[in-house]
Amino acid sequence: MSDLSADLSALFDSPVAAGPKSAWPLRWGAPTAEQRGPLIAARDPTQRNVIGTYAGVYSIYRALAIAARGLASNHQPNLTNTSPAARIGPHPQWAGEDKIVSLDPWGHLVGEVFRAERARGIDIRPTIAVTRAHVDMPEIRAAFEAGRIKADGDVVSAQGLVRVMKAAIDPVWYLPGVARRFGITESDLRESLHENTGGMFPELVSRPDLEVFLPPIGGSTIYCFGDPQKLGDTRYPLACRVHDECNGSDVFGSDICTCRPYLAHGVELCIEMAQAGGAGLVVYNRKEGRALGEVTKFLVYNARKRDRNGDTPASYFTHTEGVAGVRDMRVQELMPDVLHWLGITHIDRFASMSDMKIDALTEAGITIGESVPLPDGLIPTDARVEIEAKLAAGYRGGGAIQVEAPALGRGLGE
Ligand SMILES: [Zn+2]
Repeated sequence: MSDLSADLSALFDSPVAAGPKSAWPLRWGAPTAEQRGPLIAARDPTQRNVIGTYAGVYSIYRALAIAARGLASNHQPNLTNTSPAARIGPHPQWAGEDKIVSLDPWGHLVGEVFRAERARGIDIRPTIAVTRAHVDMPEIRAAFEAGRIKADGDVVSAQGLVRVMKAAIDPVWYLPGVARRFGITESDLRESLHENTGGMFPELVSRPDLEVFLPPIGGSTIYCFGDPQKLGDTRYPLACRVHDECNGSDVFGSDICTCRPYLAHGVELCIEMAQAGGAGLVVYNRKEGRALGEVTKFLVYNARKRDRNGDTPASYFTHTEGVAGVRDMRVQELMPDVLHWLGITHIDRFASMSDMKIDALTEAGITIGESVPLPDGLIPTDARVEIEAKLAAGYRGGGAIQVEAPALGRGLGE
């Protein structure tokens, strides 16, 4: 037996994996990190108190690197000088089992709050990292050159660079809380996750005592404009864009949807709010193609473009449902958690028209002052089919968008 398969069988056959409670019990929602206890997704089965492993979707690459002998299986991160570049929390929302169920609120602080445990060799890793950066987006540079955004030496430099605090967040699911959020039983959730991932995580069904799952899915990144200490402080107004990834538009400028234009408009609103003494926040969620994935998305593009009746708002969702079975899998029910993590209870200007996002925030107790629609002039010609389909399906704030005759999209001949 190879070392690797010996390791694997140790993981699944050991007495600990078979049943006894972890030596490190977790109390999700406890008011302090010490009372909550560390999340331990170590390889050593005697340490583990969660299902899954660190690094979200990248855990698979780590496994491959270890298999290919490119990475020592016992490597533990050296966290010297990696602590958060801005203080976030603790906020009252961090306590209790209901406000936050899909990330670890203490995830950026493990180097500090679990220093003693880490010093004893327990493999506890951050699931959140907080740093600072400058961003330089062509749309923002155009706004700077047009005089809509001005240098202030703080948020925007004389050269037009924008200062941000940003944080990367890996998903951490508290299974009883996730189940409650969707109104299903925890056992139905565990069985579905087990059955529909090819049995990838046997502990979902064999270890009901392990209540936390680190799923191998994409996480979120937040960008904060202005002083991060103003986030969650209702004395300061907040502009916010919650954006779900659309790689084709966000990065490559595809003109079939409004994703990048809305993202850039959201960034401009955030800068404007930060310069007016408030703060701005962009939450970027890795939920490509409404969490249906890019393969599904491109199949749908072809179905739309080859439709005998043309690409129209009326058939926009029909094609998605035909390929994927549903219109959307983004589970906006979990989206408010990151705002709870930041202590946010009110958004003054929300750069979105999505009824699903607005409803999810309202349901989570986060109030919205104003939903800011995408200006008509920023909608690419070929994205009118999408925006009109969404308006017909419940998008808010459509008064700002002119619909004279239903839009027609292009055919496949590009
Ligand atoms: Zn898009």
